[in-house]
Amino acid sequence: MTQPEPDSLWPLIEPLLTEAHDPVQYLGGELNSRSKDWSQDQSETIRWVLAFPDAYSVAVPNQGLQMLYEIINERPDALAERAYAPWPDMEQAMRRAGVEWFTVDSHRPASRFDIIGLSLSTELGYTNLLTCLDLSGLALHAKDRRQSDPLVIVGGHCAFNPEPLADFIDGAVLGDGEEVVGAITDSTRQWKEQGKPGGRAGLLERLARADLVYVPAFYTVGYDEQSKQIAQVFPNNPAAAPRPTKKTVLDLDEWQYPKAPLVPFAETVHERASVEIFRGCLRGCRFCQAGMITRPVRERSAPVIERMAQKAIAATGFDEVGLLSLSSADHSQIAKLAKTMADHYEGSQTGLSLPSTRVDAFNLELAQELHRGGRRSGLTFAPEGGSERMRRVINKQVTEEDLIKTVATAFGQGWRSVKLYFMCGLPTEETADVTQIAALAGRVIATGRATAGHKDISCTVSIGPFVPKPHTPFQWAAQCPPAVVDERLAALRQAVAALGKPGRAITIRAAPGRPAMLEGLLARGDRRVGTVIEAAWRAGARFDGWREYLDMDLWEETAAIVLAERGLSLDWYTTRPRDYDEVLPWDHLDAGLDRDWLWDDWVAATAAEGVEDCRWSSCYDCGVCTRLGTEIQLAVGL
Ligand code: SF4
Repeated sequence: MTQPEPDSLWPLIEPLLTEAHDPVQYLGGELNSRSKDWSQDQSETIRWVLAFPDAYSVAVPNQGLQMLYEIINERPDALAERAYAPWPDMEQAMRRAGVEWFTVDSHRPASRFDIIGLSLSTELGYTNLLTCLDLSGLALHAKDRRQSDPLVIVGGHCAFNPEPLADFIDGAVLGDGEEVVGAITDSTRQWKEQGKPGGRAGLLERLARADLVYVPAFYTVGYDEQSKQIAQVFPNNPAAAPRPTKKTVLDLDEWQYPKAPLVPFAETVHERASVEIFRGCLRGCRFCQAGMITRPVRERSAPVIERMAQKAIAATGFDEVGLLSLSSADHSQIAKLAKTMADHYEGSQTGLSLPSTRVDAFNLELAQELHRGGRRSGLTFAPEGGSERMRRVINKQVTEEDLIKTVATAFGQGWRSVKLYFMCGLPTEETADVTQIAALAGRVIATGRATAGHKDISCTVSIGPFVPKPHTPFQWAAQCPPAVVDERLAALRQAVAALGKPGRAITIRAAPGRPAMLEGLLARGDRRVGTVIEAAWRAGARFDGWREYLDMDLWEETAAIVLAERGLSLDWYTTRPRDYDEVLPWDHLDAGLDRDWLWDDWVAATAAEGVEDCRWSSCYDCGVCTRLGTEIQLAVGL
C-alpha cells in the first residue's frame, strides 16, 4: 500500500485484516480503480459513495455501479468511491475496534461523503444495507439523521418497490442511472453553493421537485383497519411528484461505460470484460420483473459494441468479452456482430461469451460462431414452464418440439450435455405441469442418444421457486406455499426415477420453497415490512442471499411476532392473491407500464393466452412508450 490518505481509516483497518477471511477484498487499489483528490474545496465537490451491499465477489463485477463510478469521477466537481458489505467476521472486528464502514478506494468513512448511493439488485441484501448504515454511525431511521449526514439513496431493480425500506432511506431512483446521477450531482452542488438552504430536507425537496429522486417521507400511507390493505397513498409535501417516474436513457451509444472495467484482486463471480449490448426486453415473460421495468429495448450499435470490447480488453487484460443483456441473441444485429467479433478475436487469447437461453437453432449457430475453434461452454435453455400450458401462462412461447429440435441439432454438432431452467410454483400450476419436466428431460436424453449415436449424454434440470414481483402481470398472484412447491419437486424426482436407466442421465437441481417466502415478503412488502427487516437484522440476519447465512427460522419467527402485532402475517404478504381494486404498495411509482394493461395481461395469463414481442409485431400499448415518451431503439441503421 502507498501512504494512507489523510482521514483514512487504513491504520485502524489494517490490524483487523488478520481476523477477516479474504482480506484482499478490503484493500482497494485494483487496476482501474480511482481515488480522486479529496482536498478540493468541499463546497465545490460532491462526494459519492457507490455501494453494493453484498460481498466483494458479487459486488465488484456489477456493471451499473462501475458505470456510475466512471461517470461521476470524470466530472471535475465530483468524486466517487466504492464500498461493499463487510462479511460478518469483519463486521464484528470493525465493531470491536470502533471502525466505521469505509470506502475501499481511500478507506475514508462513508459518513464523510455527501451521498451514499446503494445499488439493490436483490431484496435479500436489505439487512446488509442496515449493517452498512449502522456501521457508518448513521441513525437507521432517515427521520433521525443529522443535518451533516450524507443522503442515503437506493437504485437498481429493487428501487421499483422501495417501500419496505422507507424508514431507512432518504430516497430512491427509478430506472437508468447515467443521466440522473449527473442531475443529482448538479442539484446538490447548487444547494451547497447557496449555503444549503433548508438543510437536508431542502435538498431532498429540490431533488423531489425535479422528479430526480422519490422521497418516501414526502408521502403518507394510510391503511384500512378492516382489510389491513393500503387505503391510500398521498403526497404530504408540495415538492413531491404525484407519481415519481422511471428514468430512461434512450441512446446507449452516448454512454459508453464502463470504459476501463475494474480488475478485482479476489475471485469474483464474473472475470471478464462485459459490454452491455442492449437494455430492456420485450418478449413479455410475465414473471420477469427485469424485462417489464426496463422497457423498451434500446440497442447499442455494432461498431460501438466492438470498440467498447476492444478498449475494455486493452484496459484490463481480461481474456473474455461478455456480450450482456437480458436476452443477448435478440439483438437485431447479433449475427453480423458475432461474426465480426469472432473474426477479430480468432487465433487470439480472447474468448467471447453471450448469455442467452433462447430455445432455437439460431442460438446454437451463435454459440458455434462465438466458440469457433475454442472451448465449448455448456448449453443452457430456459423453457421456464414444465408444460406447454404453463409456458403459455407465463408467455414463454416455446413448444416441446422447438426444444427437441434444438437439442437434436446441438447433440448432432457434438454437444454432450444441456442444462434446462424451470420455475416451480407458477400461477395456475398443477403437479402434472411440473412432473412433465421429467418426460421432457427424458425425451432430451433419448433424442441426444439417437442423434449422437452414443449414450454419453446428460441433462441437468435446474428449478427455482417462482416469486411474484412488482410491476409485472403476476404482481396480483398468490405465491405458491413452500410445502406445495416441495411436494411438486418430490413428485418430479419420482417421475425422473420412474424413467429407469435414462433417468440416471438427468440431474435435478432444485431450490426448496421456503427461502422464496422471504424474497416474496420483501419484494411485495409495504412500509410495515420495514419493522420486520429491522427486527430480523437486530436478531442477527445478515447476507440472506447466501444459503450458508440465511436463517429462515429467525425470519419466520420474527415476521410472525412483528406482523401479528398489526394483525398481519407472512402468508398475508405472500400466499394471498390480490384483486384489481387493491392499492399495491408501489402503485404510486411509475415504471411506465399501464396498470390496466398489466391487469389485462394477468387475466390473459390465467386463460393461457400469449402476447407477441412488440419489436416484431405491432405495438399493443403497454404504456411505456406513450407515457414516458420513449421508443424502441434498434441498432439497424445506427
Ligand atoms: S408501448 Fe408498444 S412499442 Fe412500446 S414497449 Fe409497449 S408495446 Fe412495445
